[in-house]
Amino acid sequence: MRHRIAVVGSGPAGLTFARVLHRHGHAVTVLERDSAPDARPPGGTLDLHAGLGQLALEKAGLTADFQALSRPEGQAMRILSPDGTVLRDWRPGPEERANPEIDRGQLRDLLLGPLDVRWGSGVTQVVPGARGGARVVLTDGRQEAYDLVVGADGAWSRVRPAVSPVTPHYTGVTSVETSLDDVDRRHPDLARLIGDGSLAVYGVNRALVAQRNSGGHVKVYAQFRAPLDRYANLGPADAETVRSSLLALFDGWAAPVLELLHHGTAFVHRPLHVLPVSHTWTHTPGVTLLGDAAHLMPPLGAGANLAMLEGAELAESLATDPDELDDAVRAFEERMWERAAGWARITTAGLERLVSPDPTQALALFDEVQPS
Ligand SMILES: Cc1cc2nc3c(=O)[nH]c(=O)nc-3n(C[C@H](O)[C@H](O)[C@H](O)COP(=O)(O)OP(=O)(O)OC[C@H]3O[C@@H](n4cnc5c(N)ncnc54)[C@H](O)[C@@H]3O)c2cc1C
Repeated sequence: MRHRIAVVGSGPAGLTFARVLHRHGHAVTVLERDSAPDARPPGGTLDLHAGLGQLALEKAGLTADFQALSRPEGQAMRILSPDGTVLRDWRPGPEERANPEIDRGQLRDLLLGPLDVRWGSGVTQVVPGARGGARVVLTDGRQEAYDLVVGADGAWSRVRPAVSPVTPHYTGVTSVETSLDDVDRRHPDLARLIGDGSLAVYGVNRALVAQRNSGGHVKVYAQFRAPLDRYANLGPADAETVRSSLLALFDGWAAPVLELLHHGTAFVHRPLHVLPVSHTWTHTPGVTLLGDAAHLMPPLGAGANLAMLEGAELAESLATDPDELDDAVRAFEERMWERAAGWARITTAGLERLVSPDPTQALALFDEVQPS
């Protein structure tokens, strides 16, 4: 391609974009702030939907690799009431492949494949040019010029201000994440409680969710309504303070469920922020956004899927008609905004029902999404 293109961020959006361009024989510069692929823990498991994340992987030519790595059994879902009563115990059929799970680290490595990422290249600012194109300012002060800069740098995007003044706002729901290792051997009772996929327990304005990753690793999410600063000043050394506080918050819940908190090894505070449901911007030649940078929404299984499909679709349009760069970006943005707004509405309403004063709402939502 005669155009110089950079993508900022090597998350699901940026890597899928770069990988699909690579498949079509086009080079793209991938600028990533992290110093290496494993510079920080990759995070939990992702369910990739047929028609979204799976379609993106098809466009990248990675369907067979995904099928080899993903866990269809991870689609299983158990829902308990706080007193430990099993309300739902859904298991996928042998051919069910609508939303298989894959570890985020495995997905990253799959997408990385032959790509040449410039690790340790944090971007501080992107400045659109007066006659198209854009200038990227890096943390070390260097500046680079591109015909198109794609901001795939997540929730707190440094590219976004080049096109939009909007910043994420707090939903009022906080998530505290902890994890368990080698659960089948070290905590067999919890392993049975969780099953092959996810376990969710919904109470009044709070929920506990446990999700299996590969290799017996489990991520646990305590979600509840709280002021933004509830755990703001607590760091890794304060694990016991956070554990006690969570045990107090979930006081009275069944002892086997609370074992998830008793055995958690570290606690990470993740207040849930979102962008407005229909976040759009005035088209700015030379700069666009993908994924969370464009449409951060509650984590209800859509964000990575959309990020990947957008990356794949934009890459395909640029590869198909490289002479009409700006037209392709403009048309892509219209499609992205419409689809993302639909999902933002669904996930925003979903979060209200999952962390709700009326826990029967969470069960009703599950039954709507996954009728038995
Ligand atoms: C607990 C949890 C569970 C989730 N589960 C699911 C799920 O099951 N399914 C689903 O579809 N979605 C899920 N999501 C949402 C999903 O994680 C995000 O929507 C998705 O990661 C967005 O991808 P992205 O590439 O846009 O951004 P990110 O994944 O945030 O990647 C951004 C990348 O940009 C880099 N970066 C940031 N700033 C800069 C900078 N200034 N310069 C250079 N690089 C930079 C970052 O280091 C990172 O590598 C979940 C989210 C959470 C929090």
